[in-house]
Amino acid sequence: MFVGHYGASFALKGIGKRISLGWLFVAVQFLDIVWAIFVLLGIEKLRITPGFLEASNLDLYYMPFTHSLFGSLFWSVLVGILFAYFSGMTSKKKIGLFIAFAVFSHFLFDIPVHSKDLLVFGNLKIGLGFWNNALYTYLIESFVLVAGLSWYLKSTNPKSIIEKCGLFVFVAILLIVNYINIYFPSTVSPNIFALEALFAYFVFAVFAFMIDKDKERF
Ligand SMILES: [Zn+2]
Repeated sequence: MFVGHYGASFALKGIGKRISLGWLFVAVQFLDIVWAIFVLLGIEKLRITPGFLEASNLDLYYMPFTHSLFGSLFWSVLVGILFAYFSGMTSKKKIGLFIAFAVFSHFLFDIPVHSKDLLVFGNLKIGLGFWNNALYTYLIESFVLVAGLSWYLKSTNPKSIIEKCGLFVFVAILLIVNYINIYFPSTVSPNIFALEALFAYFVFAVFAFMIDKDKERF
């Protein structure tokens, strides 16, 4: 999953209002951020195979450190602890658990779309494979994003028209990126793909910090 993960960010922002949406954007993609860095370092591997799945050219055959049950639990706990410690926020336990859940949500939301490449234990890999169908993938990703957004709007009540407009433009951009990503799957090399992914996650997180800028944050 790609932009759908941000649905979890929006929904979680509706619950954990003291944390900037930007940090939640980073948290829900943290596993993919580490994955992209590990791809660049040659630690995790993929093949770009045109036509591999209808909505994805990525043959993600080796990513046991980021996209496995134990790997994702490890990163979730680590990021939760670090965030709780460095944020200086009170109720560290709650904040830590909250961020840990945000990070772990990535693994959960990857399950519907990935083919069987998410390692649970031993040789057991799971994934419901909706990437086999471009339309279903687009609808699932968009639905999760918009559902999270509507929860966010209900619970955070954006103050100004500009704030609201900025938010809708941002979500429209995410939906367009979602379309391009699914209907024009990448044909670049794994390293270029990893760099593109890192760039996208960075830009989206900056946007999220900006639209949430007048709220209290870490
Ligand atoms: Zn992922």
